[in-house]
Amino acid sequence: MASTMKVHEYQARALLAEAGVPVPQSSVVESVDDAVAAFNKIGGRAVVKAQVFAGGRGKAGFVKLCDNTDQVRQAADFMLSNRMVSVQTGAEGIEVKKLLVASAVDIESEYYVAVVMDRAKRCPVVMVSTEGGVEIEVVAKEKPDAIVKCWLHPHMGLLNFQCAQLVTKLGFTDKAQAKAAAKVIRGLVDIFLKYDCALAEINPLVRTTDGEVLAIDAKMNFDDNATFRHKKLQEMFDPTEENANELRAKEFDLSYIALDGSIGCLVNGAGLAMATMDLIKLHGGEPANFLDVGGSVTTEAAIEAFRIILSDEKVNGVLVNIFGGIAKCDTIAEALIAAAQEIGFKIPVVVRLEGTNVERARELLEAAKIPQLIPAEDLTDAAKKVCAKVA
Ligand code: GDP
Ligand code: MN
Repeated sequence: MASTMKVHEYQARALLAEAGVPVPQSSVVESVDDAVAAFNKIGGRAVVKAQVFAGGRGKAGFVKLCDNTDQVRQAADFMLSNRMVSVQTGAEGIEVKKLLVASAVDIESEYYVAVVMDRAKRCPVVMVSTEGGVEIEVVAKEKPDAIVKCWLHPHMGLLNFQCAQLVTKLGFTDKAQAKAAAKVIRGLVDIFLKYDCALAEINPLVRTTDGEVLAIDAKMNFDDNATFRHKKLQEMFDPTEENANELRAKEFDLSYIALDGSIGCLVNGAGLAMATMDLIKLHGGEPANFLDVGGSVTTEAAIEAFRIILSDEKVNGVLVNIFGGIAKCDTIAEALIAAAQEIGFKIPVVVRLEGTNVERARELLEAAKIPQLIPAEDLTDAAKKVCAKVA
């Protein structure tokens, strides 16, 4: 399944700087004392910013302008000892482990510049707006005309006339500033293409009161399927910011995505997993995850899949739905029995098996006499049973 790798703002800033996009001077720190030291090094007004994989930090109080060491101390202490809750995090929020201390700028205007993949048009699209600084989703909804788009030819990239048009649309009339803005747009497009991005965004790009054009916030997502080509990105990978279960799953070649519901799903094949989630919803339940064990699953990987599902406290019931083609039903049955012995099932596990070696699988399961195990006739029966159990 295609997903993306994220990086922190400070890492995105490093990529921008490398591509020739001007960014204010900054340091990354992990303690209050180091934040103060970084502030003293900058010598002047600074902005302290939480480094987390979520936006909306400004409104949440996790981007703070500081004029003296007391303010830095207070801001850093607050950010490192409170979880950040913003529109993008969910109520439980996220822990902040790193802070960026950056030289602050005097802003005259804020702009939005981004490159994303346009799936419908099958090419990258550059989007710019003079409504920078605020959430772009709000601009898209309330003032769609304020976003100007420009599609890139997959081989030619950003053409000179396109770049000039975008700069004009942003309202840069001063020659030096227009040149600076063009350099930013070019740099961002270069990063997008060079690193196989799914998204490269500067929000805001600012024009300072003394006419400088600078990127002061950046977000970048990279296509997971291409990160093997970029050593630099592999080094930027921060496992502590990822969902622990999703990482464990990756090690065993399982496609696992955590969701909000209460019914754990263990399925082989992405399409069957989708259908399983649909049927759970149809019968009034909510899936707790998407888990595709793949076609050629081993017993070890299947046991790991159970460990991952059962370690999620929200899970009140499990639906195992296996269509044995390449994957064999008895492999899954063995994994089920091993998982039951190792972890112990405290919640109902509804099992629907069909296909290769299903008879042998049924015999194994029957002989194992696992009390929480509930056999199902077919997928609809399985979905109904598991939904009834967790209701
Ligand atoms: P986000 O809220 O997570 O997107 O974090 P940003 O880095 O975009 O910061 C949010 C807002 O804080 C920006 O849109 C600016 O208005 C403000 N801000 C951030 N850095 C500076 C700075 O150096 N100077 C000034 N004056 N404002 C800043
Ligand atoms: Mn921002």
